[in-house]
Amino acid sequence: MSKNVVIIGGGVAAVSAVKSIREVDKEINIHIFQNEKYYPYYRIKLTKGLFDNLEEEKILLQKKEWYDLNNVKLYFDKEVLSIDTMNNKINLNDGICFGYDKLLIVTGASNFKPPIDGINKGNIFTIRELEDVKAIKDSVIDKKIILNIGGGIQGLEGAWAFSQQDKEVIVVEALERLMPRQLDKRASEILQNLIEKFNIKVLLNSKVEKIIGEGKAESIILNNGTRIKCDMIVYSVGIRANTKILENTEVNVARGIIVNNKMQTNVENIYAAGDVAELSGQIGGLWNVASEEGKVAGYNIAGKEASYSILTPVTMMNAFNTSLFSVGNIEESFDKTIVEDEKDGKVYKRLFFKDDKIIGAILVGDTKASMILKKAIENKTIISDMNSLKSFNDILAELKK
Ligand SMILES: Cc1cc2nc3c(=O)[nH]c(=O)nc-3n(C[C@H](O)[C@H](O)[C@H](O)COP(=O)(O)OP(=O)(O)OC[C@H]3O[C@@H](n4cnc5c(N)ncnc54)[C@H](O)[C@@H]3O)c2cc1C
Repeated sequence: MSKNVVIIGGGVAAVSAVKSIREVDKEINIHIFQNEKYYPYYRIKLTKGLFDNLEEEKILLQKKEWYDLNNVKLYFDKEVLSIDTMNNKINLNDGICFGYDKLLIVTGASNFKPPIDGINKGNIFTIRELEDVKAIKDSVIDKKIILNIGGGIQGLEGAWAFSQQDKEVIVVEALERLMPRQLDKRASEILQNLIEKFNIKVLLNSKVEKIIGEGKAESIILNNGTRIKCDMIVYSVGIRANTKILENTEVNVARGIIVNNKMQTNVENIYAAGDVAELSGQIGGLWNVASEEGKVAGYNIAGKEASYSILTPVTMMNAFNTSLFSVGNIEESFDKTIVEDEKDGKVYKRLFFKDDKIIGAILVGDTKASMILKKAIENKTIISDMNSLKSFNDILAELKK
């Protein structure tokens, strides 16, 4: 009898895994159990295209017929509640048990709900699923002031989308600058200036302590005592891996499901990948990481040995009438940096070097060089005669040789 591969979760990691399994094995049964009611879709478009016509068909990762063509059985609205690793079975929300020979857990992550007094009131949203976007769109029409908790990329993409709908937008960020993991101080300042030109208020070093309102959010109180009126709140303050189904199993879980570079857990026939997986103490939390990890898991499940090598983190944002790109390491010690701050803060470029190699880059306003820089970082390209190269363009010319 043909064996069963069971995949829990239907995101990008699941789809990548299916592709690699089918590359190697056309016969094995593949079953995907998905608790959403949609075919796997481009989750990253939820904030980027919040008010676009995000019809399911337009944002699918694969056409619907792809699953039949690849002999994949996809079950919707099926939440896996627990796993019986002794008997190789999963338990579903409809009471059914389903057996597996190999199991891939790609349940992703959920947006962290900040423990703020009043966070469960009405008119408070987060954006993780297509259903969240639908709920926001239904509710936002008569709202004037939207308060975004969190000044990271997701929060800012949301803020931009709301401001494009002529809403008054306020961004509250606990740290001292926007996007601190991707931008240096100056780039954050430039971004903030651009954002404020769209009448979006940015409050740094600020924490929401309390949400006030009769049943629904009507105002908030900050840590400095300031009260701010709002009609809707959207929070985006980090993620937590969806590991609950592993409770009471022997699978090792820390912040995520612990895997090796083959995406194997400590239980021989169980694999994990994507936002739910923790590799070398890190949870990727990024699209390209989830896709690559799913690919590696799929190969190993199908019997073709593959290993994951750490990808260079990349962030791109197109909002506030500018483009922004950050790649690699912009925090750790570097031994040289080249900075170009031009056109009154409209264009900013910064490169970080260590041992004659580029280790990180930030581009704001002109991101044409992004791919060449990403490649140089990934390939650890040595820049010869580093001392004679003084400008961004010198470096670029050298890389193009
Ligand atoms: C709004 C938004 C914008 C983003 N923008 C970017 C970006 O610009 N760049 C970038 O690199 N990354 C971005 N990300 C992150 C990126 O989308 C994730 O890293 C990626 O989707 C992770 O893929 P995954 O397959 O691991 O999990 P997911 O895509 O989260 O899929 C997991 C699926 O499993 C389902 N599931 C969970 N538990 C169960 C269960 N018990 N039973 C059945 N099904 C279950 C979930 O509902 C979900 O459908 C963004 C994320 C969001 C939410």
